Amino acid sequence: MTQPIGNDLVVTMHYTLKDDDGNILDSSEGSDPLAYLHGGGNIIPGLEKALAGRVEGDSLQVKVEPAEGYGEVEQSLIQTIKREAFDGIDSIEAGMEFEAESSDNEVQNFVVTEVQGDDIMIDANHPLAGMRLNFDIKVVEVRKATTEETSHGHPH
Ligand code: ZN
Repeated sequence: MTQPIGNDLVVTMHYTLKDDDGNILDSSEGSDPLAYLHGGGNIIPGLEKALAGRVEGDSLQVKVEPAEGYGEVEQSLIQTIKREAFDGIDSIEAGMEFEAESSDNEVQNFVVTEVQGDDIMIDANHPLAGMRLNFDIKVVEVRKATTEETSHGHPH
């Protein structure tokens, strides 16, 4: 029986994510397909919307705008901080990734984008923020979520 994708179903899919120039940013090909609980907010809204009503075996291409993906780039998340904030770290270079706890106790990941003397430029935006995302999707399986999966909000 073909069950159209909707809430409380676990969807397994293969995906390839490309930027607008066709560069592959991420892909499940060659590894296990990705499983998510539909309606659980496990995946970005634009992709979840596009998958609703699809069935097992469907292939689809989905273009997701930043607002429905990882959001727009927020300038407030791009900052310059002083080297002494990196207590105990000897050498700081562009490209290094860090985890910091914000004042409201949320863990925030950021990347060092530039180092100029004691000024360290950091960016805490999601790496895919501000980007239009182009997905190739193949729906591998659609099944009912277990009670446990539904209560946890994710597939097991
Ligand atoms: Zn769980």
